[in-house]
Amino acid sequence: MPSEYDIIIIGAGIVGSLTARFLSRYDLDILLIEKESDVCAGATGGNSALIHGGYDAVPGSLKAETNVRGNAMWDQLSAELQFPFDRRGTYVVAIGEEEFPRLAELHQRGEESGVPVETISGAEMRRREPRINPETSGALYCPSGGICDPWAATIAAAENAVQNGVALRLQTQFRDFIWADETKREQIVGIQTTQGDFYARWVVNAAGLYADEVMHRAGVRPEFTITPRRGEYYVLDRADVEINNVLFPVPTEISKGILVTATTHGNPLVGPNAQEIDDKRNVDVTPAGMAEIWQGAQKLIPSLTRRNIVAVFAGLRPGGNAPCLGCDVEYNKDFIIEIPTEVHGLVNLGGIESPGLTAAPAIAERVVELLRSAGEELTVKSTWNPIRPARPVFRHLSPQEQATLVAADPRYGRVICRCENVTEGEIVAAIHAPIPAVTYDAIKRRTWLGTGRCLGAFDTPRVIEILARELGKDPLEISKKNGGSEFLTRKTKEVRHA
Ligand SMILES: Cc1cc2nc3c(=O)[nH]c(=O)nc-3n(C[C@H](O)[C@H](O)[C@H](O)COP(=O)(O)OP(=O)(O)OC[C@H]3O[C@@H](n4cnc5c(N)ncnc54)[C@H](O)[C@@H]3O)c2cc1C
Repeated sequence: MPSEYDIIIIGAGIVGSLTARFLSRYDLDILLIEKESDVCAGATGGNSALIHGGYDAVPGSLKAETNVRGNAMWDQLSAELQFPFDRRGTYVVAIGEEEFPRLAELHQRGEESGVPVETISGAEMRRREPRINPETSGALYCPSGGICDPWAATIAAAENAVQNGVALRLQTQFRDFIWADETKREQIVGIQTTQGDFYARWVVNAAGLYADEVMHRAGVRPEFTITPRRGEYYVLDRADVEINNVLFPVPTEISKGILVTATTHGNPLVGPNAQEIDDKRNVDVTPAGMAEIWQGAQKLIPSLTRRNIVAVFAGLRPGGNAPCLGCDVEYNKDFIIEIPTEVHGLVNLGGIESPGLTAAPAIAERVVELLRSAGEELTVKSTWNPIRPARPVFRHLSPQEQATLVAADPRYGRVICRCENVTEGEIVAAIHAPIPAVTYDAIKRRTWLGTGRCLGAFDTPRVIEILARELGKDPLEISKKNGGSEFLTRKTKEVRHA
């Protein structure tokens, strides 16, 4: 790989990956770096997976603007990048007569931001979601809201960027900027990383939780800080619980509240709460937090029982303190999307918390416009291909399609993950994809194996075998997510195949 580029992007979450994908349309040499061993390792890997309509964001804020614009871009994006997205609408559900007036406030916000919203009666909400709390007094329906698979979206965006010439470097951590003149520190010409120095005319800060630390290295916005806000979740068994909709409670000051939602994979999701913490790596779940989200979920769907739970996880929102310039009210949690004036060569993104997943395509589009307005010549490449072909998902095919696939490649006939019905063919395809999946977790993100009731107990030994075979490695070297997470410690006996 060369060390000189036109643009370097720091961070391969949904924002960095989509920015790379949008910029790959132009005749530019682009490097996307990610400190972890796979893309989608930060906030994008652990959230509610909702494409918000935009009624909740404060009108006039960058959050509101990019939420509404981003929302409208998801149909084309999912068609081109071929990942699951379902615009099935979202509901804010008022329980009891006392919560009903809050819907009017949200309804008005929606209208101010140009978001289609409709207030429906309690009876209508009960008809649409029969398991909803019988005390439901009404709901705000937002038909433009939807659900997506954030893992699939990010992987597809990054793969499409790579297919269009972007260089991706995993396990490469930004350390500091390189300046044209180290004493003046005005013009950025590159970055120092854990894998060496790389040079570029522009650096895009898409570092999520660490965006404050990156911009401070450039001397930009020293007053801006990111405080991680942890959100905990339960994943429920889709065989036990059928939830058809995205169900929010009426929101609080700091959070949209604990929701119960359908997902593109069918497993209902319950959460998140919102706890400000001081450790950017702490994604532990806590007994108190889990009790809080369970109580919140039961407020919406009282018939849920703990026997429905399959898994737990937590994600960290990169919550910032940037003031909003376009808001009529005082608001200091806006997104930062800017080319700062105090240095040259930096596109600075920060505070990209919720609705950052929804807004990500609009943020990427805005980065392109910022570069254009800064005089960057953007020539469209004749070879640019916006289509990232999806790989076959065996469980989604008809019996006839499955038979054809197995006839062409018998590995699609060997089921490795029994809960989620994932085949060897899908695992091998992920290992040899444009961004090779070389760890168990990378395969999980791409195929959904290991996410069912047994949480990988049956498939893990088989996946280790397949990874070792396909990568030409010793099984002892195969890990969950690199960095010392190998599964096996020593050989106990020789396996003889008949
Ligand atoms: C609990 C929760 C619920 C949410 N629900 C929703 C929702 O339903 N809908 C919605 O729209 N939004 C939601 N969000 C917000 C959304 O997840 C984020 O706004 C979005 O994922 C941010 O994407 P990103 O690419 O900016 O950040 P990230 O996904 O965090 O990506 C940043 C990347 O940069 C990498 N990185 C950091 N530092 C460095 C470095 N020094 N060198 C190299 N790489 C580095 C990280 O490893 C990471 O991969 C939620 C967030 C949380 C946590």
